[in-house]
Amino acid sequence: MKRIGLTGGIGSGKSTVAQMLADRGAVIIDADAISRQLMEPGSNVLDETVRAFGPEILTADGRLDRAALASVIFENEAKRQELNSIVHPAVRAEAERQAAAAQTNPGFSGVLIEDIPLLAETGQSHRFDGVVVVETALDERLRRLVDQRGMSRADALARIKAQASDQERREIATWLIDNSHSLEETERQVEAVYGQILEM
Ligand code: ATP
Repeated sequence: MKRIGLTGGIGSGKSTVAQMLADRGAVIIDADAISRQLMEPGSNVLDETVRAFGPEILTADGRLDRAALASVIFENEAKRQELNSIVHPAVRAEAERQAAAAQTNPGFSGVLIEDIPLLAETGQSHRFDGVVVVETALDERLRRLVDQRGMSRADALARIKAQASDQERREIATWLIDNSHSLEETERQVEAVYGQILEM
């Protein structure tokens, strides 16, 4: 099995590239989807988070209030680390479970892609046989986040600035996909990268 990390900044096109890789037979493990699942009411991870941060991070109907949690950790590094120490091991455990399940499928292509937005920030590149980094020119990323996600330009820019830089992500890249242009151009690059992954 080849285990490949996939990352990129917010709005760079990770999900778009993940889908193109899935179309070619890769199994995708989505760290964001797992962490959302782990924060559903009734889960141990949500209970533990509430014990650490208080009930003010819940909405009236007992769901995680992401904005409230984000505002607690935004300027408090110790709290941010505490949250990570609750959530990250649980996400990793679920990712391992999904990886093991994929391998028992007789039709498994042998390519497992883990989509991890903060792969560079959390120093996980050594866990993988290779890392695909998706990059999109800043102006284009801002345009997509504003036009297609309805974010304000200032909010999009603040989120981008809070993440690793393009340069920091390039340093961990085995493959760099430039998603600044058409989907067809991205698809061509994905095709080439997938071929190289299969040949590893
Ligand atoms: P996030 O970090 O927020 O999860 P992401 O990196 O997964 O984002 P996508 O959701 O794949 O990024 O793409 C961001 C937005 O840009 C989406 O609305 C997507 O449809 C659009 N998009 C992605 N690639 C292209 C492209 N080459 N041309 C035009 N639009 C694109």
